[in-house]
Amino acid sequence: MSPTLMWFRSDLRIHDNRALAAAAHRGPVIAVYLRALPHWQRHGHGANQLDFRARGVAALETALRGLGIPLLHRDIDDFGEAPETLLTIARETGAGRVHFNREYPVDELARDAAVIEAFRAAGLEARGHHDAVAFAPGELLTGKGDYYGVFTPFARAWHRQLSAERLALADTPPPQASIGIESDPLPALPALADTPIDGRQWPAGEEAAADRLERFLRFRARHYANQRDFPAIRGTSELSPYLALGMISWRQCLQAVLAKNDGSLAEGDAGLTAWVNELVWREFYRHVAVGFPRVCRHRAFQRHTEGLAWRDDDAGFRAWCEGRTGYPIVDAAMRQLVATGWMHNRLRMVTAMFLSKHLLIDWRRGEAFFLRHLVDGEFCANNGGWQWAASTGTDAAPYFRIFNPTTQSTRFDPDGTFLAEWLPELAELPVKARHAPPRDLLGGSDYPSPIVDHKAARLRALEAFKALKAD
Ligand SMILES: Cc1cc2nc3c(=O)[nH]c(=O)nc-3n(C[C@H](O)[C@H](O)[C@H](O)COP(=O)(O)OP(=O)(O)OC[C@H]3O[C@@H](n4cnc5c(N)ncnc54)[C@H](O)[C@@H]3O)c2cc1C
Repeated sequence: MSPTLMWFRSDLRIHDNRALAAAAHRGPVIAVYLRALPHWQRHGHGANQLDFRARGVAALETALRGLGIPLLHRDIDDFGEAPETLLTIARETGAGRVHFNREYPVDELARDAAVIEAFRAAGLEARGHHDAVAFAPGELLTGKGDYYGVFTPFARAWHRQLSAERLALADTPPPQASIGIESDPLPALPALADTPIDGRQWPAGEEAAADRLERFLRFRARHYANQRDFPAIRGTSELSPYLALGMISWRQCLQAVLAKNDGSLAEGDAGLTAWVNELVWREFYRHVAVGFPRVCRHRAFQRHTEGLAWRDDDAGFRAWCEGRTGYPIVDAAMRQLVATGWMHNRLRMVTAMFLSKHLLIDWRRGEAFFLRHLVDGEFCANNGGWQWAASTGTDAAPYFRIFNPTTQSTRFDPDGTFLAEWLPELAELPVKARHAPPRDLLGGSDYPSPIVDHKAARLRALEAFKALKAD
């Protein structure tokens, strides 16, 4: 049997990997990794994730070595080169086919279609597997046969139709006999425009991911429903970077939940079921990307919002990016993002709403800034989250519901611990004052006054949205 190429992309693991299991089933496997740094950078991925990805590939190579599977590494400029690069590898190694796990944004679908076509034209086989989702996009549709544009009915259908088969873990390939091909040495990550954050914050690879899942389930999951909204508490799993690059699978997460929750995903422990719901959100946004591909083209999900009069405000945008808006909860969150490559979900909502509503700055600028910094930067979830906050997306926050950042701060960081951690200049203030520091208490500190007035900014956003309705 000729060897099979296993093309790894955002599925950097050997356990529960559907494409890898299927490839190994056919005989010897040669792993391939195409590193397209210029392409990723052009698409806005920043140094933090590129570094995490590179470390994830190194961990994958070690794991593959344990199975006797060589990893061939190629640098390309653009994924347009993928078909020819993979075909060349197939010719050089005598491989008869390529397997990969599907990815769903428009460009990735086009890239994979081109690979399948090129292999077919060359008389070879190319197979994409649905691994990152329980249901392939198109499998869950409304009664009218449309893609869901609202989460709750999607989640209901998801739970109703989920079967043991969909949740079954894929086999880990057994070690294979040598096929006389050596792994390529992995090239170091070249210097990038931004310096990545210290990688020790996010150790890469399957072992690190499994360890995080284990600790989350053991210590935090049962309190998740009550604690997940409080950024000063480590109440969430912090698995998003690992899920985004496939160092752990959603099935592994849910199997662990089943084991802890008497075999149920929808009922039982409130913390565990709330957590499952977040994993369903992750899948929902992938279906949205396929069902409503305009969202992948920088377009609004809600078409009528496309005419919104966003403001050109470079100074405001800079203040937001740098955590200098004068709204402590916004500033603390933005500093957390830049320093750690991660931001708490509650604060992603608060900061995204602040940019798109209080500053009335186009959400796409914020989306791009997040992608540049997030270790977990993932198109579907990021786009979904931003469009939700800007009231242009699925399940959009009604435009008139605009978070008051100070109220969010007092509610979700009641003792100001998170604020003190990220804004040391406010740490000495009495707790109440940290949420909205009065100028006279700031002494010599250069902490800025609010760059907009909440009430006035709210009215301005409401007017902009109302004008849309009048169109
Ligand atoms: C403006 C905005 C931008 C976002 N950008 C991203 C992004 O680029 N990448 C990303 O993975 N998530 C994104 N999210 C979703 C969410 O904030 C993160 O997934 C979550 O904060 C990650 O922390 P965690 O792993 O501790 O999550 P947990 O609370 O432990 O949740 C478990 C997993 O479920 C998934 N998940 C949780 N919430 C959501 C959600 N709202 N939408 C989709 N999936 C979710 C993630 O994979 C997460 O790891 C964004 C949300 C908003 C509001």
